[in-house]
Amino acid sequence: MTTKDWNISKLQVLRQCHRKFYFAYETALHTFTNPYRRKAYELSKMKTLKMWQGSVIDWMITKEILPAYVDRQIPDYQAIAKRGVEVAKKQFEFSKNQFYHDSDISRSEAGADWAILDVHESLTPFQETDLLEIYATIEKVLLDFPTYPSPAFGKNMEQYLLSATYLRPDAKQMKYEYDGVKVQPQIDLISYMGKSMHVIDWKVTEKDDADYSRQLLLGGIVALRFSRQKYREEKWRPLPTLADVNLIEFNLLNGKYKEHVFNKDAVANALDSVYLLSDDQEELSQSRPWDELDIEDYERTSKVSTCAVCNFKNLCKHVILNGLNYDEAKYLKLVQDQELENLTV
Ligand code: SF4
Repeated sequence: MTTKDWNISKLQVLRQCHRKFYFAYETALHTFTNPYRRKAYELSKMKTLKMWQGSVIDWMITKEILPAYVDRQIPDYQAIAKRGVEVAKKQFEFSKNQFYHDSDISRSEAGADWAILDVHESLTPFQETDLLEIYATIEKVLLDFPTYPSPAFGKNMEQYLLSATYLRPDAKQMKYEYDGVKVQPQIDLISYMGKSMHVIDWKVTEKDDADYSRQLLLGGIVALRFSRQKYREEKWRPLPTLADVNLIEFNLLNGKYKEHVFNKDAVANALDSVYLLSDDQEELSQSRPWDELDIEDYERTSKVSTCAVCNFKNLCKHVILNGLNYDEAKYLKLVQDQELENLTV
């Protein structure tokens, strides 16, 4: 049996719309060998301005702030906040120039500058003031971060991070594999205090999203497994249990956090949903190569609200109008016509 990789975004997309899943996970391919597949890839990476704001904050926390605490250093927050805004400005320029269309500029070469924003790729309208607001928010969040309340009573974020036994930021490589399904949650931070651990997910949008709890649950399962494995290797006793795991969703935009339940039932439900959806995908693609897949097997959702925020909405419309085929020139024309329509309503 082929092992399937699962993460929360994949689960979320499969639940929302099978056609979206077809574009995002069956068709998207980063190479420039097939324009249709490359377009699906670009759209799968495209961000709205608000999502992008969150990703820059997340990046700065993961790459600059937490590594300093891992080394027991106090980060220079003034400098980091300034750099955060610089990173955002460079990414905006990269996207504005559409350098991501250039096959000579690889994503790894572009590094932190690489970004695709919907305002450039899908010509989504925006105001200059939106941009200024985003730069100001990035700066403010990064400056406020050390004074945010923490999950440890009476400690602010800085005191909390300094008091952890061990910090494991960006634990995205942790996997859980069972019965042909590999679960790889995006864990932003695991903070260990002896046997117990806080699995933390940075939330960077205002949206109240149920999938944060699923993401955290899968993160908790993987973190506990790794911890128990370590205890066994080191012959430490007693082994950590479910009660030693705390799941924390931390909203970086307002400094508030929320704890999620981690018990036997919650864990079983989270794993069930992964296995059920994994079966759904297997039924759809049956592990066939892309050119043997039939787009018509991937049904479109009837929910207008899902389509309204779908990254692939122009591509979806284009292939329907074009006999289920992709034509780059016609697709670009559709995006431009759509922009005109947006400007006139
Ligand atoms: S636009 Fe709607 S139907 Fe088309 S892929 Fe997106 S969510 Fe699915």
